This record gives sequence, structure tokens and C-alpha cells, in this order.
Amino acid sequence: MSGAESVGDGRSGAEGGAGEEVDRTPVPDADVCVVGAGPAGALVADRLAGDRDVVVLDAGPRFDPADRLARQERAIRPFYGRPDVWGVGGARDAHENAGDWFYPLNHARVKGVGGSTLHWQGMVMRLHEDDFNSGTERGVGPDWPIDYADLRPYYAEAEKELGVAGASDNPYAPPREEPHPMPAFEPSYSDSLFAEACEELGIDMHSVPNARNSEPYDDRSPCVGYGTCQPVCPSGAKYDATVHVERAEEKGATVVDRAPVERLEHDGDDRVTAAVYATPDGERHRQEADAFVVAAGGVETPRLLLLSASDRYPDGLANGSGHVGEFFMDHLFAGAGGTLDEETRQNHVGFYTSACDQFYDEADAEQAPFKLEFFNYAGPSPVEMALTGDDWGDPLLERLRDGYGNHIAMGGLVEQAPRADSRITLADDRTDDRGNPVPQMEWTVGDRALDTIERANEIQVEILEELGADVEWVAGPDATGPAYHHMGTTRMSDDPDSGVVDADCRTHDLDNCWIASSSVFPTSGAMNPTLTIAALALRVADDVDARLSEGT
Ligand SMILES: Cc1cc2nc3c(=O)[nH]c(=O)nc-3n(C[C@H](O)[C@H](O)[C@H](O)COP(=O)(O)OP(=O)(O)OC[C@H]3O[C@@H](n4cnc5c(N)ncnc54)[C@H](O)[C@@H]3O)c2cc1C
Ligand code: SF4
Repeated sequence: MSGAESVGDGRSGAEGGAGEEVDRTPVPDADVCVVGAGPAGALVADRLAGDRDVVVLDAGPRFDPADRLARQERAIRPFYGRPDVWGVGGARDAHENAGDWFYPLNHARVKGVGGSTLHWQGMVMRLHEDDFNSGTERGVGPDWPIDYADLRPYYAEAEKELGVAGASDNPYAPPREEPHPMPAFEPSYSDSLFAEACEELGIDMHSVPNARNSEPYDDRSPCVGYGTCQPVCPSGAKYDATVHVERAEEKGATVVDRAPVERLEHDGDDRVTAAVYATPDGERHRQEADAFVVAAGGVETPRLLLLSASDRYPDGLANGSGHVGEFFMDHLFAGAGGTLDEETRQNHVGFYTSACDQFYDEADAEQAPFKLEFFNYAGPSPVEMALTGDDWGDPLLERLRDGYGNHIAMGGLVEQAPRADSRITLADDRTDDRGNPVPQMEWTVGDRALDTIERANEIQVEILEELGADVEWVAGPDATGPAYHHMGTTRMSDDPDSGVVDADCRTHDLDNCWIASSSVFPTSGAMNPTLTIAALALRVADDVDARLSEGT
């Protein structure tokens, strides 16, 4: 059996299956119970651990870091899909699709300690100032109840926690107070080709902030260029949330894996009293705590609140507004690519090094904010080409020489406006491996985003043609797809009738329950969400700490 084949499904055998002695019983006298060990939950736990007794419950397994090379090998083999790499799928992760647009949920998340950062790309930028005031500035969606200024110090802290390599060379970025913790990665070879075309067209390029080490940082090595960042970085150079899970544990937090929370219980005083969770041996337990932070991601968070319906809250917990699950958003992909009659050296770098935010703040009611990215991995890599053929020796070498080397492409992300008919509900007649209704995705996008994709495509094609490329494909409105950023389903609002959490991310309805997730975003902007998730999580931890001290 090859190394790749020996990687478990993440739910059995060596990773906590039968025979392994793991204590999954509740922690007595816990101060804080965190549901979910992705970046949001891990950062909350790390920030509070030491001063508070913290327990983290995660639905998925712990993955052994020693298996990462085998997972990387599995990831590059054509017959494995992305969910196979981290054992996502099956009844545990079943879901339904009922909206206008199909949503490939199990490609878009990892259920396990570390959450989706285990196979994320690691681009981390701050939202723009207008993103917080979209209603006022752009006439779309509500304003957030907080401003960029409220989050600005937390953004700086989040950049230090995750370890961000970046430069202050982006004239369109919101104001920042200090340099990034590490220098930016050098522009790639193909960036230098793009730079000539962009200069001719008056289009600005700048570096991309990356949560990956450009130099040794936080006891983790610098990037060594494996190029498989999505879905596995074997070196640890790419940040993932196991960094903060382990740090929280070192400070005394308890982390329980394979412990899906099935419902939250409450008392008659609008306080959550316990998280009811299952364990692999079929037991159910109640984890009591003084405060609860739900950090189960943008789909499972509303699902858990809906599963927690009771006589007092028949429409689900924290759902006095009726908005739990509504306004599901993702960023839409816009792209174009082709070939050049010269070498472009793709797939040497597994992430973006240059981007363009020049058109972002032109957004209004008709045009969504969007950003552009310059691909470093256009076209298949030699490894992918070799693995998908049935030739050997000289014919294989000839095919690789002919097919590899001159691809070039651009990508981009576009904001989706919030819509009540784009939402997560509970499926009527499908349940998971514990008998709980699975999430039903109803993803509906809207014309503003689709029109903006066309605008992004125009610019991309113009740049590629200036470069002299033969444009062979365009991912326009008919070929777009999600960026795997789950936002909006427990939105933040000042008014309890308009949203699920307040400006501190504490639920309007329950005094001791917070939500740490991009599910609280009222609008999505077009920047990748995780730095904002991290900044909000640190802010949640401070609020939990302050309220526990006050006894409120
Ligand atoms: C392929 C890919 C590439 C990406 N690239 C980027 C990028 O470049 N930049 C960026 O900003 N973002 C990126 N993202 C998105 C990023 O991964 C997410 O924004 C981020 O991980 C969300 O963090 P979270 O902690 O809110 O949720 P998650 O990471 O989803 O973690 C939620 C955790 O909760 C657990 N859980 C779920 N339900 C329960 C339950 N009932 N009980 C207990 N535990 C539960 C899950 O097991 C999981 O560990 C990417 C995502 C994917 C899939
Ligand atoms: S390119 Fe760097 S970050 Fe990506 S997988 Fe390799 S070492 Fe990790």
C-alpha cells in the first residue's frame, strides 16, 4: 500500500478510532465552551486560555502532521478529489442543494481540527473602509454596525497571530499603522511579464499579503516552494489553525475532536447552559460553561442554531429576527487565460504574488467591488500532466516539453450582494450519521455580481491581449463558481430585528452566546475573509473576557 493510500478517512483507525483511549467526557467547571476548531475558534480559545478554563469541541478528527506528505501525494493524484485529502464526505458531511446555483460544499470546507485553513490558499487582506458602509457608500445591503476603525487594531493583531508576509506597496489598501510581520514574497517571473502590459495600460500591480512564512516565523519554517498549498502544505510554512489550537492547549485549554455539537441547550433566562455533543462510541454528553462561542463556520453555525429549536425558541436559537441562515454569500470567480509564445514558468509558486485592487472602490449599486489576481499556476503542472497520461519515456518527455511552459492567466473575486433568498435551511428529509437534518444550500447570486464578472473579464482580456497572449478561455458569468467563502448567515446588526448578533458578535437573543465567523458579515466585500474572521475572533475573545469579569 502506498503512503498516499494509507492516509485514513479521518474518522477511523489511527486517528482516534476504536481502541484509542481518548477522553471525550465534558470538562467540569468550564468558563468558556468554543464550538469549532477552525481559525475563529482556535484564536478565541488561544486568547482566553490561561486566564479562563476553555474547552473546544470540534466535529472532525485531529490529523497527524506526520501524514501531511502522504496527503500531499494523494492530493496530486488525479483519481482523488479534494474532499478525499482530508476525509470530508459521506453521511457525516451530507448536504442538500435547492437553490438556483449548485454549491459544492464538501470541496469548500474541511471538518477537522484546524478547519478549512488546512486546505486554504492563505491570502489575507483587510476589507476596505467602504466595505463596512456598503449601504451608505454603494447603495447595496446594510452598513455594518462597526467601522474599519473599530477593527483596525485587531487587523494588526490578526496579522501578527497568523504571520503575514506583505508590503505597503498597495495604494488602494486601507490605512495601516505598521509594516506586515514579514516581508512580502518577491513577484514571480510571470508577474514581471504582466507588469510590462499593465504599465502600458495604466493598471497598477502590487503585492499580495500571504499567511505563509517568507522567512522563519513563529517556530515555523519559511516556504520551500512545494507548490501544493491548496490542499496541503507539508512544511508548515502556510498558516493553519492547528497553530493556535496547540498554543491554546499548551496554556491549558481542552480540545475534544470528533465531538459534533448537535444542539445548544438554554435556560429560561435567555442563557445557553450546555452544548450537547456526540462521541465516536455513540455516547452523548453535555458540556456546560458560563459562556459559549459558536465558531462552526458559515454553514454549520446557522445549522446548529436551527437544530437547537426549543419550545421557547421554536424557530431556532438566536433567531428572534428570523434571519438565521439567510443572506448566504460567497465571492464569485472571474478569470481569463491562454498561452504566450514564450516561457511563463507556471506552477513554480503555489500562490499569488501580485494583485490589482485598482477597480475595487469604483463599486456602486450596479458594479460590485472586485479585485484581480495574476496567476502563478496557469495550466497543468508537469506532475499533473505526467499523472494524467498513459505514456512513458521519450513520448512522455516530448508531451511535457510541448504542453508545459507557456500558459498564462488571471483570476479575480467579485462581491455577491446579500439576498434573503440565498440561504441555509435544514433539509426536510435527509439526515446525517447522527440522525440530524443536514444543511440545505439555496445559493442565489444576482445580476450585480454577474455584470461585474463581465467587467472584470474585460480588463483581464485587455491585459492578456496587451501581453500578446492567445486568449483561450474566459470564466465569465456562465462559467463562474464560488471561492469557498461562506458568509452572511448570522449577520451582525444594531437592531435585533435586522440581524442575529450585535456589534460585539454576541447574539441579540442570548446573553452568553457569541458567534465568531464570517457568518456575521452583513456584506461580503470582495476580499478573502479570513483575516477579518481572525480580527473579529480576537475582538469576540476580548468581549467574552470582559463580560465574564463583569459577571454579565
Ligand atoms: C480551498 C479553499 C481555499 C481558501 N482560500 C482562502 C484564502 O486564500 N484566504 C481566505 O481568507 N480564506 C480562504 N478560504 C476560506 C477559509 O478557509 C475560511 O474563511 C476559514 O477557514 C473560516 O474559518 P472558521 O473558523 O470560521 O470556519 P472553519 O475553518 O470552517 O472551521 C469550522 C470548524 O467547526 C467545526 N464544526 C462544524 N460544525 C461543528 C459542530 N456542529 N460541532 C463542533 N464542531 C463543528 C468544523 O469541523 C471546523 O473545524 C479558503 C477555503 C477553501 C476551502
Ligand atoms: S509553496 Fe510554500 S506554502 Fe505552499 S505548500 Fe509549499 S511550502 Fe507550503
